[in-house]
Amino acid sequence: MHPMKPRLVTVATVQRITPACVRVTVQGDDLADFVSLDPDDHMKLAFPAAGEAAPALPMWGENGPAWPEDRPRPVLRDYTPRRVDTAARTMEIDFVLHGDGPASTWASTAAPGQHLGILGPRGSHVVEPAFDWYLMLGDETVLPSIARRLEEMPADTRAIAVIEVSGPEEEQRIDTAANAEIVWVHRGDASPGSTDLLERAIRALALPEGEGFIWAGGEATTLKPIRRHLLNERGVPREWASFSGHWKRGVADHDHHEPIED
Ligand SMILES: Cc1cc2nc3c(=O)[nH]c(=O)nc-3n(C[C@H](O)[C@H](O)[C@H](O)COP(=O)(O)OP(=O)(O)OC[C@H]3O[C@@H](n4cnc5c(N)ncnc54)[C@H](O)[C@@H]3O)c2cc1C
Repeated sequence: MHPMKPRLVTVATVQRITPACVRVTVQGDDLADFVSLDPDDHMKLAFPAAGEAAPALPMWGENGPAWPEDRPRPVLRDYTPRRVDTAARTMEIDFVLHGDGPASTWASTAAPGQHLGILGPRGSHVVEPAFDWYLMLGDETVLPSIARRLEEMPADTRAIAVIEVSGPEEEQRIDTAANAEIVWVHRGDASPGSTDLLERAIRALALPEGEGFIWAGGEATTLKPIRRHLLNERGVPREWASFSGHWKRGVADHDHHEPIED
């Protein structure tokens, strides 16, 4: 667990890295002691309320957050610290532009000088690098975490990533020293979270020998049959699999703590 310290940061640069993904680099002295020990870490981003230049941030006490009573509460959404440089006091965050919702809308018009709040990460779930192989799977919302993990993996680690995006224009170059196989799944014009393409790709996958660990993230409903398949049909122990519903079709601000199992 990490101490909870609400942070205020300023947008430094905005870069459209693919047609549907914006990389926002934020900076601020508050990042000097930011801790993210695992690529699966997530933080709550606080977006300024209408009419506010910067989001209100809470004081953190024993009973959790105490929000200022004289200011509107900011919208909060979960995002991944894609790349952090505490010496330079910067952080990159990759936003999927999915066309709806306050976070995606904010990212689509983000500009240098704007402000964001950061709450968390509350803690890091670090998995020992003791497994024979690692499987990472999901859609573009988990791509920041997958890419960071592949970049940070020790050389020659056996890794497989299966990533669903709309098409080749959404694939990202990932530099890794791992012994990695990266499979891109294209859903074409289908809506995100509406197909079983990822499940079919996983069913077709030959897993390496030995014991593996799985990280999965993406649309909550589509992950369920994948989890069932990997745990029940492939025999992966449930404690060696981490599934996170990063979002859910038709639900704003989906709670990723909602279990993926039936
Ligand atoms: C641990 C964790 C880490 C995450 N990391 C990232 C990250 O690094 N980058 C990132 O882009 N997202 C990330 N997400 C997902 C992100 O939090 C959600 O997509 C969130 O719903 C976006 O908020 P919003 O305000 O844009 O939309 P909301 O207001 O939450 O939702 C509005 C509508 O948009 C739909 N929707 C939400 N997300 C998507 C999507 N991706 N595609 C299509 N429709 C969608 C909802 O179903 C709803 O109908 C992460 C989520 C979790 C739980």
